[in-house]
Amino acid sequence: MDVVVVGAGFAGLTAARELDRRGHDVVVLEGRDRVGGRSHTTTIAGAPIDLGATFVGPTQTEVNKLAADVGCPTVPTYTQGRNLIRWRGRVRAYRSTIPKLSMIELVDVSRIQWRFERLSKHVPLADPWTASVAPKLDAITLDGWLRSVHAGASTRDLMAIMARVTWGCEPDEVSMLHAVRYVKAAGGIGPMLDVKGGAQQDRFPDGTQPIALRVADALGDRVRLGRIVTRVTHGDGGVTAHTDAGAVRARAAVIAIPPQHRSAITFEPGLPDDYRRLAEHWPLGNLSKAYAAYDTPFWRAAGCSGEALSDEGPVFITFDVSPDDGPGVLLGFTDSRTFDPLPPAERRTKALESFAGLFGERAREPIDYVDHCWGAEEFAPGGPTAAVPPGSWTRYGRWLRTPIDGIFWAGTETADAWTGFLDGAVRSGQRAAGEVADFLKS
Ligand SMILES: Cc1cc2nc3c(=O)[nH]c(=O)nc-3n(C[C@H](O)[C@H](O)[C@H](O)COP(=O)(O)OP(=O)(O)OC[C@H]3O[C@@H](n4cnc5c(N)ncnc54)[C@H](O)[C@@H]3O)c2cc1C
Repeated sequence: MDVVVVGAGFAGLTAARELDRRGHDVVVLEGRDRVGGRSHTTTIAGAPIDLGATFVGPTQTEVNKLAADVGCPTVPTYTQGRNLIRWRGRVRAYRSTIPKLSMIELVDVSRIQWRFERLSKHVPLADPWTASVAPKLDAITLDGWLRSVHAGASTRDLMAIMARVTWGCEPDEVSMLHAVRYVKAAGGIGPMLDVKGGAQQDRFPDGTQPIALRVADALGDRVRLGRIVTRVTHGDGGVTAHTDAGAVRARAAVIAIPPQHRSAITFEPGLPDDYRRLAEHWPLGNLSKAYAAYDTPFWRAAGCSGEALSDEGPVFITFDVSPDDGPGVLLGFTDSRTFDPLPPAERRTKALESFAGLFGERAREPIDYVDHCWGAEEFAPGGPTAAVPPGSWTRYGRWLRTPIDGIFWAGTETADAWTGFLDGAVRSGQRAAGEVADFLKS
């Protein structure tokens, strides 16, 4: 083999596809019994739903191109009608992304957003640790920064919702440097959080995993499932990936898995300490999802878009992801801290209680219900993306994707644009494929 790719998520599959296009022999080893990684499509009441990645936006050009190439069209996210916010015990309606708060609260939200985005001007995407503000920003958490600029309670609660849905963590767990760089890589808070013109603008009616399945189909038996790579040996002009089912020797390897999961692979000879520490200091967050299906999207008849925000858990954000013909489907992002430890029946009750608190009692009677806790996955747990704590970027950031001895690194966490998203994963696969191709040439 020319190249062995570890991980058949969007990053690994893109890297393999690009290398194959360039005429290289490539094999993909995937530990799960399916491709797609953090993209996993299943069904509810017969309609496709995504347990992981769902939405795409207009500036996420690379994943959109890939999806179009393999014949997976998008549909706009349903936005007609009023959005709802349950805040401090009251449900109110609003339009667009910024919820209806008091004038004082809204002014505070704008002030903090402006200050946050101003900071991003000083943080370069490729090497954020070189910024003059980096030591200061990487020494504090997002919460620490919010307190230092005297953000009001509502602003802090809204930022907590942003942290939960974006990184699957609380504001006091994520480095301010990471937060600023991450949002900048998405083009700003608006493009990251908005539906129209933003990252939630569109979705794939058949789900996101079919994109990965089609890429994998084209690669055929070069994608091998159920192959957990436990050891990578390197040197002597080659790299060998070892699994229980045997080893694959190649001239180069692309490790396309989240940095945290690099720790589960033994590298021989051992990589320099900084690589090892990076994996230990780049933890994934935890996010969970609950879906409820109803005979019809009854909230639409009441003038609601199905989009809602809540300061009461476990569901804290909802969307209408109903198919054109078929049941009404509500998607709820749930707070993994209170949701994941519950037994399945209680998770269902709590999620439906949240939906009912927003959309009325009818929400308690779904025809089907599905939830998924990414933190509880047996293999490669966690998601949506890394919740990088203070100190990691400035100490270990430079090793995130620096190749070493024929080993190259991909995965959405290594991207400079739309890191954390499908688009970042695709971009990282393209970048790694280019690096490997140059390496093989030399
Ligand atoms: C709940 C949730 C909601 C999300 N919503 C969105 C969204 O709406 N839009 C969006 O763009 N993004 C979203 N994301 C993020 C998106 O899913 C990820 O950014 C993207 O899928 C990451 O792709 P990847 O290839 O980098 O990594 P992964 O998808 O994690 O792929 C890595 C693969 O490597 C495999 N692997 C790990 N270790 C080994 C090993 N030792 N040996 C062999 N194989 C291994 C894993 O099984 C996995 O298949 C969401 C994620 C979650 C969890």
